[in-house]
Amino acid sequence: MELMGICNICGKTARLNSCVICGRLVCSDCMDARTGLCIRCSHGRSYQDMHEKKFE
Ligand SMILES: [Zn+2]
Ligand SMILES: [Zn+2]
Repeated sequence: MELMGICNICGKTARLNSCVICGRLVCSDCMDARTGLCIRCSHGRSYQDMHEKKFE
């Protein structure tokens, strides 16, 4: 399910997805497409993965 709104993690206006665990509405940059989880739930480690994905 997708809708426009403000990302709960980075705060930008974008097409949002809801995390299946926490229900947080996050943009595609803050969502791990492989798991369907927000970055907070999918990996509580570093932000390095997120930055790497932006360059793919
Ligand atoms: Zn975001
Ligand atoms: Zn989450």
